Amino acid sequence: MDIEKEVERTIKDYGLMKKSDKIVVALSGGKDSTSILYILHKLGYNVHGLLIDLYLGDWSKTHNEKMTKFCSSIGVPLTIVDLKKELGQGICFIKAVLKKQKNLTGCTVCGITKRWVLNKWAKKLDADKLVTGHNLDDEAQNVLMNFMKGNILLGMNSSPATGDEEIEGFVQRVKPFFFVPESEILNYAKKNNFDILYDKCPCAFGTYRVETRGWMKELSDSDKKKIVQGFQKIIPRIRKENPREIFSCKHCGQPSRSEICNACKIFECLH
Ligand code: AMP
Ligand code: ZN
Repeated sequence: MDIEKEVERTIKDYGLMKKSDKIVVALSGGKDSTSILYILHKLGYNVHGLLIDLYLGDWSKTHNEKMTKFCSSIGVPLTIVDLKKELGQGICFIKAVLKKQKNLTGCTVCGITKRWVLNKWAKKLDADKLVTGHNLDDEAQNVLMNFMKGNILLGMNSSPATGDEEIEGFVQRVKPFFFVPESEILNYAKKNNFDILYDKCPCAFGTYRVETRGWMKELSDSDKKKIVQGFQKIIPRIRKENPREIFSCKHCGQPSRSEICNACKIFECLH
């Protein structure tokens, strides 16, 4: 598969971005976000890397160093956000507190925290779009996990262009790898000899997502595509039947489905 062509097609089909946009790419340091930064830069988009230092020991340190080198080698600016400066704590402490107080899983807490920090900084950087490296495997996992939890409504915003461009205070998140299988991105990163870490997050163990990822290895890439495309077909109907209000969070002002956003509910537990 030519994943550069696939990215161009998704951008065109879903109107994800324009050449005049400022595109902030959320960089974890892994193969997906590094590859999408590289491809968008190669296609001539105005990109800027954004990496959150989560304070996961040597793992974070290596990612920071490698991304600093990578971005400077291709001439892309990089902003590294220090989570301790943002929230006073590293991600491990935040996860441990939330596990104890609200029995929330690590990946949920980390996901909500990252989304909040990324939106805040994408706004600060004056971004038109915020790109993440989510791929077909991630999206297929979401569809199946939500289905097995008995709550497909959780996935009703799933799209290569998440959210609505017009929501005040929200930088639209876009996922150009939405239809690209993880295996193809891995081949691409290796073929291009990207000097990055290929390991999975050291904290992601024992969660429902990790378990799902395990048995989904049995599925072919074309099955994963059918799962994602099949769900995309029914989304318009689900959205129509379940309109949801958007509030501005009372604490931070970021868009939220309730009066106080999920991130602020988490941050309250840290005091
Ligand atoms: P993950 O939640 O680790 O599967 O990552 C999904 C996407 O979120 C990645 O492809 C990145 O675009 C973004 N992301 C993950 N971790 C970070 C981080 N530490 N800093 C910035 N963006 C991140
Ligand atoms: Zn908030």
